[in-house]
Amino acid sequence: MASIAPTPTSSYRGRLAPSPTGFLHVGHARTFWTAWQRAREAGGALVMRMEDLDTERSRAVYVDAALEDLRWLGIRWLEGPDKGGPFAPYVQSKRRALYLAAWRKLLLRGFLFPCRCSRKDLESALGAPHESSSHGESNGKLEPLDDEPIYPGTCRRFLGHAPQLPGPTVSDVETPGGTNWRFRVQDGEVVEFVDRNLGPQRFVAGEDFGDFVVWRRDGGPSYQLACVVDDAAMGITEVVRGADLLKSTARQILLNRALRYTNPAWYHCRLVVDHNGRRLAKRHDALSLRALRQRGLTPMNILSAELPVEE
Ligand SMILES: [Zn+2]
Repeated sequence: MASIAPTPTSSYRGRLAPSPTGFLHVGHARTFWTAWQRAREAGGALVMRMEDLDTERSRAVYVDAALEDLRWLGIRWLEGPDKGGPFAPYVQSKRRALYLAAWRKLLLRGFLFPCRCSRKDLESALGAPHESSSHGESNGKLEPLDDEPIYPGTCRRFLGHAPQLPGPTVSDVETPGGTNWRFRVQDGEVVEFVDRNLGPQRFVAGEDFGDFVVWRRDGGPSYQLACVVDDAAMGITEVVRGADLLKSTARQILLNRALRYTNPAWYHCRLVVDHNGRRLAKRHDALSLRALRQRGLTPMNILSAELPVEE
């Protein structure tokens, strides 16, 4: 029985970071199982972190369901919302003070500018569809700001709150209040990393992604910011997640540098697709772990099934 999370014998720290915006499906099962296997093989610790920043779609029932489904699969974690631990709370909606402190740091270091563009402004400035039309959400992350179109640069002139502008100076700004804040990327900068599963990766700022949102006008940090802050605060050494987040990794490398955090290693898993080649989303109810379990499938059936993956 591999039922008990062993006491770590190495400094490896991995994490499971579900978003409670729906029931987990077979794709999540694969990715989370991989995270568990890698932590076990490394003799490390696995941390459960609930990424519930999407207040409109997150539900308590999905929090409970995610924990239950992952336990049913046989995955065990050492720290988490249900267990506590040295880096509690393990629920993102309760970690706002940490995100605010990071936002302030980025602002004071001149990396951010306020962006007042509405979604409509952006759509008309771009005249192009989003970079991702897949409705990916393999991890149920916020859309579209976390997989956002390349920003046309409209508000860049407000970079760093240049003092000659009317309005608040940097030291006056205490809270992000009511506007989007974007991280200014250096157009043409190449961001490279070696993924432990998928090999060398290369993205170009300004081409593959643009100035990205780190704080949203509706009052919360973006996925990118919350993720790097938590991974750093929780001492995560390897991030195992879906390949739909490869481009997020490029952005997060820039954030880590700006915040002077150490990069973790990355292991991105290929995404499971349906018979039409489309990524699974939480709306694929028939492939939810709950539904499969009700049909009598075992964790072994689910984890050993031959499933098509995205190239
Ligand atoms: Zn703008």
